[in-house]
Amino acid sequence: MLAGLAAAGCTPDAAPLQGGWVGTHPERGHRLRGELPAGEGPLKKADVVIVGAGIAGLAAARALAGRGVDVAVLDLEDQAGGNSRGHRVAGLPCPLGAHYLPLPGPDAHEVQQLLAELGLSRQVLGRTEWDERHLCHSPQERLFIDGEWHEGLLPPAEHGTTREQYRRFSALVSQAQRNAGFAMPTRRARWTATHAELDAQTFAAWLDRAALTDTRLRWYLDYCCRDDFGANADGVSAWAGLHYFASRHGFHAPGDEAGEREPVLTWAEGNGWLSARLAEPLRERLHLGRAVLRVTEGKHGVELLAWNEATGAPERWQARAVVMATPLFIASRLLAAPPDALRQAAGQLRYAPWLTANLALREPLLARPGAPPAWDNVRYGTTALGYVNARHQSLNPTPRAPLLTAYFALPTAQRGELLKQPWQHWAKVVIDELAQTHPDLPGKIERIDLCRFGHAMSIPTPGLRGLTALAALNEARGRVVFAHSDLAGYSVFEEAYTAGVGAAARVRL
Ligand SMILES: Cc1cc2nc3c(=O)[nH]c(=O)nc-3n(C[C@H](O)[C@H](O)[C@H](O)COP(=O)(O)OP(=O)(O)OC[C@H]3O[C@@H](n4cnc5c(N)ncnc54)[C@H](O)[C@@H]3O)c2cc1C
Repeated sequence: MLAGLAAAGCTPDAAPLQGGWVGTHPERGHRLRGELPAGEGPLKKADVVIVGAGIAGLAAARALAGRGVDVAVLDLEDQAGGNSRGHRVAGLPCPLGAHYLPLPGPDAHEVQQLLAELGLSRQVLGRTEWDERHLCHSPQERLFIDGEWHEGLLPPAEHGTTREQYRRFSALVSQAQRNAGFAMPTRRARWTATHAELDAQTFAAWLDRAALTDTRLRWYLDYCCRDDFGANADGVSAWAGLHYFASRHGFHAPGDEAGEREPVLTWAEGNGWLSARLAEPLRERLHLGRAVLRVTEGKHGVELLAWNEATGAPERWQARAVVMATPLFIASRLLAAPPDALRQAAGQLRYAPWLTANLALREPLLARPGAPPAWDNVRYGTTALGYVNARHQSLNPTPRAPLLTAYFALPTAQRGELLKQPWQHWAKVVIDELAQTHPDLPGKIERIDLCRFGHAMSIPTPGLRGLTALAALNEARGRVVFAHSDLAGYSVFEEAYTAGVGAAARVRL
C-alpha cells in the first residue's frame, strides 16, 4: 500500500482504501493524437450529426429533433452529459462534475423554457414559482475559518478594513451592472468599449488599481474565480471577474438588505439530473462510445470518421450538416479544413484541469463548532473548492452519513500529473484536504471514486472574450456550426444550453 494512504488514516492492518478512476477515458480523447485507423467500417447516415453529447450537444439535438430533423449524437464517453453527468457510489447518486444551476434570469429564456418543460417551474399570476424540492435546502453554504464553521461563504469581516472593502467592491459591482451591462448568457449583453477595457486586464490588476487588497476579500474573489473559471483572479480578465457577480446576484456585503444569496437548483446527482432528462427522449439517436476522429466537409454534405469503442473498429457517418459540440480545441483538430476563426480561437483558449472525488462514508462525521453541515462546505485559505453533500436534498428523515463530492480546479501545470499519477496519489490529496476540517474522515471512508477532467473548461483569460474569432464562430451558419460553452469563453450550464439551441437554429439543412 502507498505510504500516503497510511498517513491518510489507513494503517498497515486496515483494509486498503476502496476506489478508483471513474467517468472519463482520457485514452479515448487521445486517439486524436494518433494516426487515423486503416479501413472504413460500416456507413451510417443522419440529416445532422452532432459531435459531443454535453449540454450544448444535447440542447442542439433536442431543438432539432423537436423540429422533426433526423439527428444522431456521437460522444466518446459511455454516458451522455459531458461535464454535467451523474454517478453512483456505494449505490447512491452523486455528481461527477457540475452540481448546480442558479435560477435563470430574464435573459436566459431558453433555459427558463427548458426548466418549465421539465416541470421545475410554473407561471402563477405572471410570476415564476419553483418546485421547492429542487431548490437547495437550507443551510446552503458554510465556511470553516478560525477553527469554526460560519454560515455563508464570504469570510466574516474581523475588522473595519475588510468591511469597508466589501462595501466598496459591492458598490463597484452595482456600478458595473448599471453602466456596462452584463447578462447571463453573455451573448445577451452588448459588447462595448468598457467591456473591451475590462477584458484587456486581469481581474487582480483591476482590483489592485481600485486598492481592493484586503486578504479576506481577495481570498474570496480568488475562490469565486476558481469555482466558475478554473483560475485565480490573476489568471482571468476583469470582465470575467465582474461578470461573475454583475450578471447574476451581485456582491452583497454583510448586513446588506439583499444579502441572502439567491437560491440554486440542485439534485443528488448534480446537473446529471438535467442531462439525463435531455438525453432520455433522444434514446436511439445517441451513439455513445464513439470517438469522432475526422470531420470532412464536402460539396453535398459532411463525412465523419469515428472509432467505435465497443467493436474496436472504425465507423463512417454521412450527414447533410454537422454541429460541432466539442471544446473548440478539439473541433479544430477534428475538422479536415478548420476555418480561420476556429484556428485563432483554439490557439488562444487555455483549459483548466479539474479533479472531483465522491466519498461514501460509513458513518456520520463528528460535529465541529459553529454552523451546522450545509450543502456546500468550504475551508478558508485553501486552494481547493470544498465539498457538497450529495445527500443534502434527501427528504428521508433518518440521519445518514453524508456523501461528499469534493472539487479541485488545478493549475494547468498539473495536467500531466493528473494523467500520470495513480488514483491513490490523488485520493491522498483529497483526503488530506478534507481532513483539515474533518480529522475523523480518513477512518470513515467506505469508497472514494475520482474523476479527472484534463481540459475541463476554458479559462476566460484577458483578451479571450473580446476575440472577433469567437464572435464569428457564435454566428457561423451553414453545414458546419459550433455549439459549446467555449463560445462564451467560459463554462456554465446557461452558456452551453443557449449555444446548443442557437446552433440548431443556424445549421443549414
Ligand atoms: C468539475 C466541474 C464542475 C462544474 N460545475 C458546474 C456547476 O455546478 N454549474 C454549472 O453551470 N456549470 C458547471 N461546470 C461547467 C460545465 O462544464 C457546464 O455546465 C456544461 O456542462 C458544459 O457543457 P458543454 O456541452 O459546453 O461541454 P462538455 O461538457 O465539455 O461537452 C463536450 C462533449 O464532447 C465530447 N467529446 C469531446 N471530444 C469528442 C470526440 N472526439 N468525439 C466525440 N465526442 C467528443 C465529450 O465527451 C463531452 O461529452 C462544471 C464543470 C466541471 C468540469
